[in-house]
Order: sequence, then structure tokens, then C-alpha cells
Amino acid sequence: MSNGYSSRSMESRVVLVSGASSGLGAHFARVLAAAGASVVLVARRTDKLETIVAEIQASGGRAVGVRMDVTDPVSVGQAYEEGERAFGPIDGVIANAGMNSEGLALELGADEFDAVMATNVKGVFLTVQEAARRMIAQSSRERENGRILIISSITAHAVTPGLAAYSASKAAVVQLGRVLAREWARTGISVNILCPGYIETDLNDEWFASEGGQKQIARWPRKRLLAAEDLDATVLHLLSDAARRVTGGVFTIDDGQSL
Ligand code: NAD
Repeated sequence: MSNGYSSRSMESRVVLVSGASSGLGAHFARVLAAAGASVVLVARRTDKLETIVAEIQASGGRAVGVRMDVTDPVSVGQAYEEGERAFGPIDGVIANAGMNSEGLALELGADEFDAVMATNVKGVFLTVQEAARRMIAQSSRERENGRILIISSITAHAVTPGLAAYSASKAAVVQLGRVLAREWARTGISVNILCPGYIETDLNDEWFASEGGQKQIARWPRKRLLAAEDLDATVLHLLSDAARRVTGGVFTIDDGQSL
């Protein structure tokens, strides 16, 4: 039996990436397109999506940008509909959209806490629920081809002061993913969770430029941030045919930052 993995392993796949207008989401979209996938990039900022889509198309990739607010089930449904009109059934999803909140817990407002949970937990749930419904309707059970990857973070298990709401949301989606992997075990959908360490993006660039951020880096065993590229092999693997028997996995890639 083929292990389903090759350098162009994504050629037959249609993958939706949420939060693809910047940072890791934009990076994943580029990497998947370079591996041959048709990529549906979704986020709220369509102007930013268009720039990334144009760049992918200019290097020979297949991509489309669609507006989607992960906190709104109507918007989620419409975005899948539009993505499938462009490329056909979506059989891979990276639930990547996320937001941070700043400040210590005593100062954290209820509205901010709610906003983090709405994007990072409910948003992931709505994104993958819509995906699974569609995958099942497209015979994922028989084809064993559904792939869902949830982007959590090492803050799901490592303690960082100032990230109470964010860390709680990231721990929540680890267990959400494990429950969904169990519920959907017989549907041919693999659900896995990736917990990356710190990578400089729009989410944290100001922090890592600050004195506090520099001190945090100095405390890690290897004293450095990760690069988005450090996640590529794992992401491609978990979205590929080869991951048909990999489900409910929680993968930490953090260069030892949480040790
Ligand atoms: P980022 O701010 O560049 O990207 C977040 C993306 O999510 C943006 O495109 C943003 O527009 C989108 N988004 C936010 N709310 C949304 C909504 N309601 N609907 C649709 N899209 C929405 O930050 P990033 O670092 O690239 O983060 C991507 C993911 O990776 C997040 O889930 C984050 O928690 C996670 N993560 C990041 C790091 C890191 O160090 N950068 C580490 C571990 C995990």
C-alpha cells in the first residue's frame, strides 16, 4: 500500500485555511499551494487576502480568497459554499484564525475575554463543524479523505502570565479536537491538533520587540523564536492521504520552548 506521501502530495486536495490574511495562515496557504493543493483562503480582510492569492497564482498555484468571519455561522457557511464553487469539495481544513488579549488577569475585561473565546474556541468549532458536515456528505466515510487540523499553541499546557484568556482558549481547542476526533472516528475524517511554540507574527511582534519579550526568549533552552517553516512538514503530513490513521493527535513543535 502506498503511504500516500510525495513531494506533490496535495495535488488532488482542496484545503480551506482560516485566518489566512496574515501570519501563519498566509504561510500555510502558500506552502499548501506550492505542494499542489487548491487553497481557499478565508479571513475578514479580503484586501489582504487578494494580495496573497495574487502572489500564489503568480507562482503557478491555485488559490481563491473568500470573506469569512469565524464567529458567524452564516458567514462560515457562505464561505465554504463559495470555496466549493471555485474548486469543488473541500477535503482539508486548517482552523487557524485566532486572536490574543493583552494584560494580566486582574485587568482583563469580560468583553475581551468573550471576544477571545468567540474567535479562538467558537470560531474553531464552527469552522470544523461546517467542514465535517460537508466532508461526510461527500463520502469521506468511504474515501477516508477528510483532514482537519486545529491550530492551538504551547500556551495550552505551558503557563505564561498575561495570557489567561488566550491560554484557556488554546487548551479548550485541544480537548475540543480530541472529542471531535472521537465523535468523527468512523467518518473518514482525521482531526489533529498542532501546538506551535512562539513564532514572530502580527499577533506578538510588538511583544517580542519589547524588553519583556526579549527576556522571555532568553529563558528558553535554545533562546530563539521558531520560524513558520518549522511547522511545514508536520502540517503537510497531517493534511495528506498518509494521515488517514492519524487522528486525535496533539503535536507540539516548539524548539523546546515549553521544556
Ligand atoms: P495573526 O494575527 O497574524 O493571524 C491571525 C489571523 O486570524 C489573522 O489573519 C486574523 O485576521 C484572523 N482572524 C482573527 N479573527 C478572525 C475572525 N473572527 N474571522 C476570521 N479570521 C479571523 O497571528 P498568527 O500568529 O499568524 O496566528 C495564527 C494562529 O496561530 C492563531 O490561532 C494563533 O493563536 C496560533 N499560534 C500562533 C503562534 C505564534 O507565535 N505566532 C504560536 C502558537 C499558535
